[in-house]
Amino acid sequence: MMNQPKRYLITAALPYANGLKHIGHLAGAYLPADIYVRYLRARQRDVLFICGSDEHGTAIPIQAMKEGTTPRAIIDKYHERIKENFADLGISFDIYHRTSEPIHHETAQEFFTYLNSRGELEVKETEQYYDEEAKTFLADRYIVGTCPVCANPRAYGDQCENCGSSLSPEMLIEPHSTLSGKPPVKRATRHWYLPLNKHEEFLREWILAGHKDDWRANVVGQCRSWIDGGLQPRAVTRDLDWGVKVPLAEAEGKVLYVWFDAPIGYVSATRQWSVDSGKDWKPYWYDKDTKLVHFIGKDNIVFHCIIFPVMLKLHGNILPDNVPANEFMNLEGDKMSTSRNWKLDMQDYIDDFMRKDNGGPQLADSLRYYLTTIAPETKDSEFTWKGFQNANNSELVSKFGNFVNRTFVLMHKLCGGKVPPLHAGALDVADREMIAALGSLPGKVSGLLEEFRFREALFEVIMLSDLANKYMQKKEPWIVVRTLAANPENQQLIDNCLHICLQVTANLAILINPFLPFTAKKMLHLMKVVDKMLDWENAGKMKLLSVGYSLRAPELLFRQIEDAEVKAQLEKLKAASAARDAGPETAAGKAGQQDGQAGSGPAPVKEEIVYDDFARLDLRVGTILNAEKVEKADKLLKLTVDLGFEQRTIVSGIAMHFKPAEIIGRQVVVVANLAPRKMRGIESNGMILMAEDGAGKLYFVGPDQKVGAGSGVS
Ligand SMILES: [Zn+2]
Repeated sequence: MMNQPKRYLITAALPYANGLKHIGHLAGAYLPADIYVRYLRARQRDVLFICGSDEHGTAIPIQAMKEGTTPRAIIDKYHERIKENFADLGISFDIYHRTSEPIHHETAQEFFTYLNSRGELEVKETEQYYDEEAKTFLADRYIVGTCPVCANPRAYGDQCENCGSSLSPEMLIEPHSTLSGKPPVKRATRHWYLPLNKHEEFLREWILAGHKDDWRANVVGQCRSWIDGGLQPRAVTRDLDWGVKVPLAEAEGKVLYVWFDAPIGYVSATRQWSVDSGKDWKPYWYDKDTKLVHFIGKDNIVFHCIIFPVMLKLHGNILPDNVPANEFMNLEGDKMSTSRNWKLDMQDYIDDFMRKDNGGPQLADSLRYYLTTIAPETKDSEFTWKGFQNANNSELVSKFGNFVNRTFVLMHKLCGGKVPPLHAGALDVADREMIAALGSLPGKVSGLLEEFRFREALFEVIMLSDLANKYMQKKEPWIVVRTLAANPENQQLIDNCLHICLQVTANLAILINPFLPFTAKKMLHLMKVVDKMLDWENAGKMKLLSVGYSLRAPELLFRQIEDAEVKAQLEKLKAASAARDAGPETAAGKAGQQDGQAGSGPAPVKEEIVYDDFARLDLRVGTILNAEKVEKADKLLKLTVDLGFEQRTIVSGIAMHFKPAEIIGRQVVVVANLAPRKMRGIESNGMILMAEDGAGKLYFVGPDQKVGAGSGVS
């Protein structure tokens, strides 16, 4: 790096406090940010690491409605859980704040007032949808109607979750309010807009010219397509009551749009940190000598590269120096998705791998390791349980862990548990090469870290342990020891090998620390040295451990991940996803078979729901037009079902109960608004309702007389 900044302000995207976060989130923003921050701290740089919960937006009140509780209860619950999950996995924020705090509301309002009073915002009157019965304007999400693209009758005013089309409420056929069920009416309302179109030249100059070389190509590319597509004024206010109130008398009933208030959350968190620490926050946001870096996933690029920088510029703040956005991480061949239950939450990993009796906090590093080796830095990547096991067992355990362990075992066996001396006269080529490799590595690793190339940086560190293993293998001190009776001077060869291996071990602790902090800590304990040794300036040095110093007995750094664990996780993933998507006809069948409960009486009634929960289901009568067996799947039938307005392909787990020919023409009840799901490579668009008796026999559910296909069921 050319000029070293005076201080660093590192932010990681504020997670939405409406649910647990999965490892795709962790790998996308929080882990790389943490590695970078830990590295900067080891370099004694002035660095502040900011994050917190994004607690506003329409999704939170909707989530509250779904869970039959209040928005406050939702954010309180998820804020605490997410915060703990991050801490357990070693993400070392200096503050994990919340946008529901008064200091955030003040900060966001001040931002708005500053921009508005300087004429940087535009006011426009527009027509927006209004619910006359609920007496409120309706956010796009609160309006539901039929998708003009795929005819899904439950498309939202902003998006159809069936076909993925981006929509606006105007595009919906027969739109109605989710609050009252009535068709919404248009009503005039005034909103404040950020005229992004006025800042195109600035953005072009700043990003497309100024950062074309030091920002990731995917980030610059996305910015270019946004800017070239023509920027539009963007509303910064909306008619809603959950959020930061617009600080103007004439804006009663309006709040700041969540995209406007959320990034200001970085500023308010810095202010709260200042209150807590007694240190000045202003230089972090105003002094040009501050390097601001936003760590985000690619879905956040427009906010952090286009919109927030315009706000910062207008407000007189510094601009981000870099926005190393990551691509997405998939899971076992499919996109991670909370709604489809195809995911691994941080909480799940912590529960399954980090119990005290099962690896403890140390196992956080196994996950950190694997996620970094497959970091989606330049393209989408994929988490597989087999890959996790391999990375842990054949890299962490057999390269890094094995080298450290052998060094400790041999040092105790051949050198009396003390750091042996280095005999300069007895050094051979292999010794010198090992010392040289050690000396040149830190510069290489820090160069990669400074360029946000975490995957390669970690690879270099692991390769050092691999090299050291080979060095030890070549020197064979366990063989040399047998020659001591005849050649006592050979003790010098043993001393040199183990002296070098011990100094390499101390160096490995420094180099691995940003990536695997729990491991570094454990290594310090084994070497009986203080945290200070982890200063990056010590990396590459040969005198980290003093001659004659006695070290602790060896302890394994990592544990193996067993085949049974991998199998259990794969089954868990499939079961959770099937329970959510395939519905009762397979989930109930499965549970019955596994628990041997067929014939053991009716299942208990599930937890109570409110009418709205039920109303979310779109049930339709459909006619089975065709049925065929799915290759290599004993239980599945591929059905073509006529829903009146369209024909659907639905994969159903009923093949053990019905022959295809006997069900063609039958009328069935279909869950029409179930998110599509791939089963054996076939996209299934909906689910057929089935009754199941105590013996596990399935029966179709349908109208008792023929009715028109597509008829609603309620
Ligand atoms: Zn659609």
